[in-house]
Amino acid sequence: MKKYLITGGAGFIGSCLVKRLAKKLNHICVVDKLSYSSNKSNILPELKKKNIQFRKIDISNQKKTLKCIYNFKPDVILHLAAESHVDRSIDFNYPFIKSNILGTHSILESARCYFNNLNKTKKKIFRFIHVSTDEVYGDLGNKKILFKESTKFDPSSPYSASKASSDLLVKAWSKTYGIPAIVTNCSNNFGPFQHPEKLIPHMIISALSGKKLPIYGNGLQIRDWIYVEDHISALIRICQKGKIGETYNIGGNKQIRNINIVKKICLYLDKYYKKSKEESFFKLISYVKDRPAHDKHYAVNIQKIKSHVGWSPNIKFDKYLNYTIRWYLENSNWWKKTLKKNYKLKRLGLKYD
Ligand code: NAD
Repeated sequence: MKKYLITGGAGFIGSCLVKRLAKKLNHICVVDKLSYSSNKSNILPELKKKNIQFRKIDISNQKKTLKCIYNFKPDVILHLAAESHVDRSIDFNYPFIKSNILGTHSILESARCYFNNLNKTKKKIFRFIHVSTDEVYGDLGNKKILFKESTKFDPSSPYSASKASSDLLVKAWSKTYGIPAIVTNCSNNFGPFQHPEKLIPHMIISALSGKKLPIYGNGLQIRDWIYVEDHISALIRICQKGKIGETYNIGGNKQIRNINIVKKICLYLDKYYKKSKEESFFKLISYVKDRPAHDKHYAVNIQKIKSHVGWSPNIKFDKYLNYTIRWYLENSNWWKKTLKKNYKLKRLGLKYD
């Protein structure tokens, strides 16, 4: 069995990855600084297992990161730790520079020291998988050609710029120092356990609380959506079959306008949750001032991952959007606890801990 070190393993995508890898007898070390967006309870049953450990570390602390890597001796590092919310990056960008750029630099340098001291056999096995976003490519606008791995970076937000910077660091460290790294650029994820600030949970939770459903601009922005478990399958396949030094786009083949997602949520809630005939969740839809530099359209071409790695998405959007809505309906304790924790941090002046 392999040894996986997963940064950001207490976040939305990271915790799904931990759960999936923990189903086999893999050894896992979860590294997370436990920021506002994390939830250690997502992986509590996994953390009770002997072969799974947790380290509360801010990866921008290189001394601690290096020590952790040396102690655990991973075969694979899956790097997901990052500040991940575009709106927050616009409000206050420093944490994005610190975690996403300096944090990636710190873990790359730690991985470099560790890799250089491995024996030949271990060097052959070792992989550094960097998990990034399709937002690094910028706005597709009205163009019909989807983002390819060769599309030039043109990020619009501090978040996407910080992720693009981290991708470039990983590519350069792979070329210069020979670290066997692979970069992945994935489209918008959705599913249970996603932080309430992200589009789909935000709309579900606002609707359930009778609050307005704020739509940026005209709501016609298009995103390509992927169910989080499909993303996890792609990452695991890349660990096994991805070519060193390559970049792979990952996407769900499901392009949809933001406003249409919100309408689907309203439709579902009207059908299964509405309390009286007169009420409709559609009435809560409210258009608000657009986000600065809001990209109109993202969508990735996934031919390369299909042919190199043999992966393609297979989870149906509508079915799993409904599943996700049901999950938030049935797990209000989870999101109420998350909101309460975030509210406390804010009151203490720790919006960005
Ligand atoms: P998330 O915010 O839910 O989780 C991020 C986790 O990283 C949190 O647990 C947080 O505590 C941890 N973290 C942040 N900075 C850290 C640091 N300096 N040291 C240690 N831990 C730190 O985000 P997510 O949606 O799960 O995203 C995970 C990764 O996937 C990110 O790198 C993100 O850029 C990328 N990604 C996300 C999406 C998406 O739609 N959510 C799409 C493509 C790529």
